[in-house]
Parts: sequence; C-alpha cells; structure tokens
Amino acid sequence: MPDKILLLPDNIANQIAAGEVIQRPASAVKELLENAVDAGATSIQLIVTDAGKTLLQVIDNGSGMSETDARMCFERHATSKIRNIDDLFHVRTMGFRGEALASIAAVAQVELKTKRPEDETGTFIEVANSVVVRQEPVATPNGTSIAMKNLFFNVPARRNFLKSNAAEMRHIVDEFTRVTMAYPHIKFTLTSNGQQLMHLEPGSLTAAQAGLKQRIVQLLGNNYNAKMVAVTDNTAYMNIHGFTGKPETAKKTRGDQYFFVNNRFIRSAYLNHAVMNAYQELIPSDSFPMYVLFIDLDPTQVDVNVHPTKQEIKFEDEKIVYAFVQAAIKHALAQFSITPTLDFDL
Ligand code: ADP
Ligand code: MG
Repeated sequence: MPDKILLLPDNIANQIAAGEVIQRPASAVKELLENAVDAGATSIQLIVTDAGKTLLQVIDNGSGMSETDARMCFERHATSKIRNIDDLFHVRTMGFRGEALASIAAVAQVELKTKRPEDETGTFIEVANSVVVRQEPVATPNGTSIAMKNLFFNVPARRNFLKSNAAEMRHIVDEFTRVTMAYPHIKFTLTSNGQQLMHLEPGSLTAAQAGLKQRIVQLLGNNYNAKMVAVTDNTAYMNIHGFTGKPETAKKTRGDQYFFVNNRFIRSAYLNHAVMNAYQELIPSDSFPMYVLFIDLDPTQVDVNVHPTKQEIKFEDEKIVYAFVQAAIKHALAQFSITPTLDFDL
C-alpha cells in the first residue's frame, strides 16, 4: 500500500483556518477596526457595500506600515504585537494572534494601501487566495486603508451561508457598536451603500466619563441620557467605570448590556449575574437593565486566549471580580434603594 498522508497546500490550510476568525462580514469589521485602534488611529472610517459582502473597507490615520511589513502582514502568525509567550500575558493591544489579515486574504480579494508618516510614498498591495498579485508604490495619506472585496468568492459554500443583507448589516452594526463604545476618544464613521449611517464625534481623553456618556447616547439612543447612573470604583486589584441604567431602563429583552475587560468586549454570564444580583428588588426578576461597564485589571489576571475571537475570557480569580462588580453596581444604585443593604468592602 502507498503512503497516503499529504500536506494541504497553504491556500487550503489558510481557508480552513480562516473559518475560525472570519465567519461573516461582521467578523472582518471587528478585526479591521481593532487593527486600526492598535495602530493608534484617531479617526477611523468603515465603509460597506451590500452589508460587506461586496466591499468592506476600513480607513485609518494610524501608524501605517513599511513596504516590507505591508507584505508580511498577510502571512499567518505575522504580528508586531507580541514577540514571545510571556508577552501574551501582558498584551495591551486588541490583536496579538497575527491571524486576521491572513484569514481575510484567504477568503476574499484584498487591497491594501498604507503609508507611514516618515515615508515619502506609500505601498499598494493586492492579494487574492493568500497570494500577492500586485504591488506598487502609491501616493496615499498617512495611515492604512484595507478593502476586502467579494468575501468568500473562493469558498462558495461559505458564501451561501451568509444571511440577508439586513441580517448581516445588523451583525456589522453590533460589532461596530462594541468596538466604538470602548474608544470614545476616537472618531468613527460608518457608511453603507454610500449613505453615512453613523458619525461618532470623539470625546476628550481628559473627561473620559463624559466622553463615554456621549458615545453611549450616540450609539444606543438619546433616551438613555437622563436614565443612567455613573459607576466607578477602584481597588488595587481592579477598577470599574461606566454607566448602569436606572431601574426604569429594564426591558423584557436582554438588549443593551455591554461588558468590557481591558477594553475588550466580552460575553460573561457570570458577570452579568453579578450585575443582575445588584438590581435585586429594584426590577422584576424577568427584566434586564442596560449597562455599559469597563473592568480594568492587570493583564496577567485574565486569559484572553481561550477563543480566536477573544470574546470569552478566563479570570485568574473569578470570585473577586464577581464581588467587586456586584458591590460597584449596588453602590451606584444606592440612591434608588429604599432600604439600602450595602456592603462596600471586598
Ligand atoms: P494582529 O493584529 O493579531 O497582530 P493581524 O493579522 O490583524 O494580526 O495584523 C498583522 C499585523 O499587521 C499587525 O500586527 C500590525 O503590525 C499590522 N497591521 C494590521 N493592520 C494595520 C493597520 N491598520 N495599521 C498599521 N498596521 C497594521
Ligand atoms: Mg489584528
């Protein structure tokens, strides 16, 4: 019998791996916006056509890339954000896996234009099926523009799995909301089929809480303006800041609830439970208040590497985080309690 094991060609291996990172246009929104944030941009534009199925472009005014880096960035495991395994536990950037651009380049046609402020000219690169098909110098503003065209053009089965434009657009707006909420000092716009849907003005870095409030209201609706209470508590172990809805914001559907850990949007039934617990007796047990909460703690105390999309994380000490969140919310809501039973110490 002949041997039968073969190595998959790179482009097939890349397409398979891409499935972990890029499921739909909204996944690319998250990755490209996060790259722009990591590049230190102060202004970021997201432009989509046909809910990102035909075109999904992010333009930033961040650091840009050198000519060599512009080619390198499409390689799998190519990253400027960590150097060794130890860095992984101290990482402060959104990205670090070096997989997003490689994945996007495996399942779409990509056009990159990038220029560093210190360079005279920029670089234009076109990639399809993980292969660079064109490269030339280009006159372009400082920063980076990445256009992803015809997502899944080479993986028809995946393309068929995409939902209607309306449904994919909802996913895009959700991701846009999660990233932009965490960076109120950055200007963002969202344009769909030539129409500007969102224009988020940057808040000042010094008045961070006011900037966050403005961003929340821009994203979730003006009706929250007078219906949120500020949350802020600090210990040596961790900080929390943000806003939580007055009891009257509670709805029957779980809608506007956002948790960020070190600026990363996360899903955590456990932390959600901590908040709900703090609302006990203030709202009916089958309803959900709005909240936008940012927890900051030493990166060594969280493992964000449990899933490629980094939405699930592990805390070193879950119980402390739970107690802290619950106490902070109770503290903020104290003014609404009739008989406060508060317990501030941790
Ligand atoms: P990661 O973000 O995990 O490092 P990516 O595949 O998203 O991996 O990006 C690879 C690298 O390309 C990044 O580490 C960064 O150096 C560079 N890069 C990507 N997007 C941008 C951008 N918008 N501006 C500047 N550099 C970028
Ligand atoms: Mg990235």
